[in-house]
Amino acid sequence: AEGGNVKVVVRVRKFIKRELEKRSPCLVEMVPETQQTILHPPELTAEEVKNMRKQYETRDFTFDKSFWSHNEADAHYAEQQHVYESFGEEFLDHNFDGYHTCIFAYGQTGSGKSYTMMGTQDQPGLIPRTCQGLFERIEAEQNGSITYNVHVSYFEIYNEHVKDLLTPRTTPPTYLKIRESPSEGVYVQNLTDEQVKSYEDIERLMKTGDLNRTTASTKMNDTSSRSHAVFTLTLKQIQHDIATDSTIERLARMRLVDLAGSERANRTEATGQRLREGGNINQSLTTLGRVIAALADPKRQQAQSRPNSRQNQSKRRAEVVPYRDSVLTYLLKSSLGGNSKTAMVACISPTDYEETLSTLRYADQAKRIRLTAVVNQDAVS
Ligand code: ADP
Ligand code: MG
Repeated sequence: AEGGNVKVVVRVRKFIKRELEKRSPCLVEMVPETQQTILHPPELTAEEVKNMRKQYETRDFTFDKSFWSHNEADAHYAEQQHVYESFGEEFLDHNFDGYHTCIFAYGQTGSGKSYTMMGTQDQPGLIPRTCQGLFERIEAEQNGSITYNVHVSYFEIYNEHVKDLLTPRTTPPTYLKIRESPSEGVYVQNLTDEQVKSYEDIERLMKTGDLNRTTASTKMNDTSSRSHAVFTLTLKQIQHDIATDSTIERLARMRLVDLAGSERANRTEATGQRLREGGNINQSLTTLGRVIAALADPKRQQAQSRPNSRQNQSKRRAEVVPYRDSVLTYLLKSSLGGNSKTAMVACISPTDYEETLSTLRYADQAKRIRLTAVVNQDAVS
């Protein structure tokens, strides 16, 4: 087993049209030498100062990486390839070593989550680059004694329902059930898990999935900002040792998650309007926040490192991590608090002080989560 913390990186995007038109200021600064992300307060009008609910001050955070994707002219500009090289590639190494991995993008709507995870045709993001890297390695490492087996699934969680993104939409929609078994852990029943032989196979599936996601969003207005999209690659390596006539199997799952916009979770938390907001509450996102808070709690971590102390046993019982309270956290249980190497990309807008501060705080908490990843290897014969 290999212990390690959740790797947390932050990425600030460039201005979008609306912000340019409003001549919005850039409130974010990053220090390349130290990976600090600094958030400056906005200049407020007299009216805003009068109505001010919160303290606006300069805030300073340090993450594993701070990606400056705000202006291309800057020497430290981080493009898609750069983001992939600085931790996507490393995560793929872990998969080939037999570890499960998970990368999830967190942030308000419009902060760059989908751009970072899926990207565009011209600027592909982490998902297509990971898939491409996977097949490049399989082709390069082909030596006859290892057989590689790759499967892809793609689903979305919307309103606590799981929908397969690789099957055509149906009316009424088909919701999939979640099951748990000792051998498979938590899984989605009847989810399409298609075997792929090349990057082109995956590319086709990504397109199908994204099309299914956007078709739904135009009909149901704004689904993609409220839904979580989970893209999963499963890599099985079967190694046959001729000398000893034994077979070893390694199984690694990589989850790449584009979360719903965090602003909904924040607003409901901040105002406490749980009942009034009704359908707008994102159960999965609020639970994710509670799960992260529970996992990052220093008391819990002490209990983990001193499991036999009597004082800790009662504490441990008191702090149950609420994985089962939402579909997302239940499905990502092992990625969040168990056998996985996990990274969070906190995506931020350059101009939104409150939402950015809330995302940075969330990210700051996530980096305290410790995980214990093990190689998933079985001797078959
Ligand atoms: P989200 O998925 O978080 O709602 P998007 O990824 O859709 O946000 O990003 C919002 C807009 O900003 C899109 O037009 C996207 O292309 C653009 N964008 C986001 N991040 C970047 C970036 N790093 N560089 C260039 N454009 C970006
Ligand atoms: Mg998006």
